[in-house]
Amino acid sequence: MNKKLLDKVNKRRTFAIISHPDAGKTTITEQMLLLGGVIRSAGTVKARKTGNYATSDWMEIEKKRGISVTSSVMQFEYEGKRINILDTPGHQDFSEDTYRTLMAVDAAVMVIDSARGIEPQTKKLFKVVRQRGIPVFTFMNKLDRDGREPLDLVAELEDVLGIEGVAMNWPIGMGQTMKGLYDIANHRIELYHPADADHRFLPLNEAGRLDPDQPLADDPQYLDTMDEIELLEGAGAEFDREAVLAGKQTPVFFGSALTNFGVETFLQSFVDLAPAPAAHVVNETETLAPDDDEFSGFIFKIQANMNPQHRDRIAFVRVCSGEFSKGLDVTLARTGKPVRLNNAVEFESSARVQVSEAVAGDIVGLYDTGNFQIGDSIYAGKHKVEFAPLPEFTPELFMRVSPKNVMKQKSFHKGMNQLVQEGAVQLYRNYQTEDYILGAVGQLQFEVFQYRMKNEYNSDVEMTSLGHRVARWIDPDQLDPKMSSSRNLLVKDRFGNPLFLFENAFAERWFHDKYPDVKLTEKL
Ligand code: GDP
Repeated sequence: MNKKLLDKVNKRRTFAIISHPDAGKTTITEQMLLLGGVIRSAGTVKARKTGNYATSDWMEIEKKRGISVTSSVMQFEYEGKRINILDTPGHQDFSEDTYRTLMAVDAAVMVIDSARGIEPQTKKLFKVVRQRGIPVFTFMNKLDRDGREPLDLVAELEDVLGIEGVAMNWPIGMGQTMKGLYDIANHRIELYHPADADHRFLPLNEAGRLDPDQPLADDPQYLDTMDEIELLEGAGAEFDREAVLAGKQTPVFFGSALTNFGVETFLQSFVDLAPAPAAHVVNETETLAPDDDEFSGFIFKIQANMNPQHRDRIAFVRVCSGEFSKGLDVTLARTGKPVRLNNAVEFESSARVQVSEAVAGDIVGLYDTGNFQIGDSIYAGKHKVEFAPLPEFTPELFMRVSPKNVMKQKSFHKGMNQLVQEGAVQLYRNYQTEDYILGAVGQLQFEVFQYRMKNEYNSDVEMTSLGHRVARWIDPDQLDPKMSSSRNLLVKDRFGNPLFLFENAFAERWFHDKYPDVKLTEKL
């Protein structure tokens, strides 16, 4: 055990926020950055998102769509801990990257709009988090507006996601009538409109009540809340840290990111309860301790063209063990080749700075000239470390692609191969015609692909949407070319495995009915 290294690792909290668009991810991130002293005014992150933020090093398309790449990783100190927030792109830029980011974190924060409850994108992301078995902390947002009954919201976690929710605090009123939060975990009441900052909290007596002379003691909202608290005490789940760490229970916090209410309480509890980076699973038989002396890490994301002048790519490495230092010599596990990590950056607020110190849990950006692929492991020392491959996520959108100019096949193929290797899009071939078909999780990936083919490989591509949404693999032994019909499209993936693309779930069911003995599988 390396005590000095372990002390550093134990200060790390690396997480991502999962939510449906508009639930308030950006707003809560911003409040956290404010609490961490990284930004001084609200609106900074937001402005970046909407594209009003002047900075020169975004690729054109990102400017147009207002997507921030500089906020891929946000790092700050809070209460003696080093916090790493990894951005999970949502909206139109939802992609496999969003899923893969969840492979690089130790915990997730789930932000839910309390008027809307659990929405589709949250469900999808939760599924990935659940597979990893990492802890999830829930923030029920927008309490300053009328939302659904708190009891319903907590019950929905169990009903829809199958995770037990345990209330850490409870709203006193909601929307117009919101008075504050009954803070179960900290045994106090947090006021929404305190007379001044020094009187934000009201203490509770032994019975968990306000003393009668306290403000709010005979407020109808407070009395309602006390009834609900009694209900919770009788029937609600008990907080169980082990269950939280195992991803079986989620602590639930209420609040309003926009009015910065409840965010600090949330962040404090999160920092306290969320796990530090733990041993990383290498394969079925091996794990690697975060305080192992030798450096290791894996690449979970490659971002190209952060600076159009230099056409650089940045490979994002999640450090799993050891300590990163400039000029470190590592081996790339896939090829066995040595690589010197000279040009690395870490991410402080909006700026990229040279890495000073990075240990397990931290994210390092490596300038890459084409050495790295998504999922690559790198390690220092003699003992080979190769982490299990990252899961592939089944695309939901498909496009037929071809070069506009048939004379330019060569640049088309070159660009296609390289961009597919980066993993933003998946490549398929039509089983009969060998036509190229691209699959992606989000629409923007296609636009980025088209843009980069033109700008980097001088290849104009034609893209036609296929309208198919569901990809299902079939065992080659069961495949009969007759199964291919107007209701599906038979293609093969880049390893030659056959799969069907269906327009929708209905077309898939039709296939199942017709071929009841044929088993189709979804990758994830
Ligand atoms: P994201 O898409 O999840 O990043 O959501 P944003 O943070 O951009 O928020 C979406 C919208 O909801 C914005 O108009 C926010 O101002 C608003 N919003 C976020 N948090 C709250 C909140 O606590 N209360 C209210 N009333 N609005 C909020």
